Amino acid sequence: MEADVIVLGAGIVGLSTAIHLARRGKSVALVDRRGAGEETSYGNAGLIQREGVYPYGFPHDFGALFRYALNNTIDAHYHFSALPSLVPFLARYWWNSGFTRHQHIARLYAPLIENSISEHSDLITASGADHLIRKDGWMKVFRSEAERDAAYADADKLSADFGVNHQKLSTAELQTAEPAIRASLTGGLRWTDPWSILDPESLNKAYLAYFQSLGGRLVGGDAATIEQVMSGPGWRIATPDGPLTGREVVVALGPWADSVTRKLGYRFPLAVKRGYHMHYGTRDNATLNNWVLDAERGYFLAPMQRGIRLTTGAEFAKRDAPKTPVQLERAEKVARDFFPLGDRRDEEPWMGARPCTPDMMPLIGKAPRHDGLWFAFGHAHHGMTLGPVTGRALAEAMLGEKTVVDLAPYRPSRFVA
Ligand SMILES: Cc1cc2nc3c(=O)[nH]c(=O)nc-3n(C[C@H](O)[C@H](O)[C@H](O)COP(=O)(O)OP(=O)(O)OC[C@H]3O[C@@H](n4cnc5c(N)ncnc54)[C@H](O)[C@@H]3O)c2cc1C
Repeated sequence: MEADVIVLGAGIVGLSTAIHLARRGKSVALVDRRGAGEETSYGNAGLIQREGVYPYGFPHDFGALFRYALNNTIDAHYHFSALPSLVPFLARYWWNSGFTRHQHIARLYAPLIENSISEHSDLITASGADHLIRKDGWMKVFRSEAERDAAYADADKLSADFGVNHQKLSTAELQTAEPAIRASLTGGLRWTDPWSILDPESLNKAYLAYFQSLGGRLVGGDAATIEQVMSGPGWRIATPDGPLTGREVVVALGPWADSVTRKLGYRFPLAVKRGYHMHYGTRDNATLNNWVLDAERGYFLAPMQRGIRLTTGAEFAKRDAPKTPVQLERAEKVARDFFPLGDRRDEEPWMGARPCTPDMMPLIGKAPRHDGLWFAFGHAHHGMTLGPVTGRALAEAMLGEKTVVDLAPYRPSRFVA
């Protein structure tokens, strides 16, 4: 089997890259050991976060650090056993999250986020997936006046600096928007630009079908079998149907990118923030009308097609360590007081891993030491948001075209000495 380009990983990033290459006339083989969009791109909160200009930073105030150190919050959890290996990553992440660095990073990151809706919109229309999308933003709700006022001030600044739109909601307006919420709230904030996905798995499958309609192939195989072919077409992957060769390879393996990059000699400072979800029915015919973040408790409720999907914050642990869904247990308890959640709909909690870099920005671009090798991973909390813009920009770079965003800030070489 041969292809012009082999794209490793059929999550949202690999799918989007494969589509943009196929649109440009390349023969593309998309390789995954599972189906398309069945890992991290399946289990997320389904937000296309147009407001997410500031990537999620590491807290710098002592109160928050102390709370997290106690390891009993809903929004963050860590495995003691993972800390020694995580310290170098966390130290760099903490440094990059300082006020001045974080502001600088937001300015570098903003062009990706600014193109997130338009690039998804293109693929949604092309793949006939409009029925999977809502275009009315998402809401944060507040229990205390202090938290509400701080969030309002941040939102005003974000709107002034980056043109992101929001509405402030009084308790009466919240009550109208979400009559079934029974927690005592001081107000809310609706980001009006973002879109939400009613079923992320189905959106991935719709993008796959569109890719296939362009002549692209989904091929089963293990990316870690990659080999550079010195006297031939460039790269080779072992698949159950025999070797697959291609002139160029894109590594879009999300949290598993290092299974290929390490083999090729790269030591990128990657880590994961694991997260969990569970679907629920409702009681008393209650309806949740919006994607809602219970801001002071740190969990999300998303009214998706399969039920209300509760998603959790960050768990710092080794990627492959067994599931420890303590945040889900804690969040579920609080969420049941917040809203009349019904029975669990999944047999066990789903777990995924957000692929993270210490400067909170993805790696997108040419591999520093190999010809015909390209990277697109490390999208952390925003991979669902940024898959399509990443895919377009990378395909453009591979073909020597002008890219929709300048890829210099995300160049993989920034982590290579
Ligand atoms: C709880 C949670 C909530 C989130 N909410 C949001 C949100 O609301 N909005 C948002 O923008 N982002 C969100 N994210 C982040 C987002 O889901 C990820 O950033 C994104 O899905 C990463 O996409 P990807 O294509 O890079 O990786 P993946 O989707 O993980 O795809 C990688 C693919 O590589 C394949 N693979 C791995 N190893 C091999 C191998 N050896 N051989 C072959 N194939 C292999 C896997 O099977 C997989 O299909 C959330 C994440 C979590 C965990």
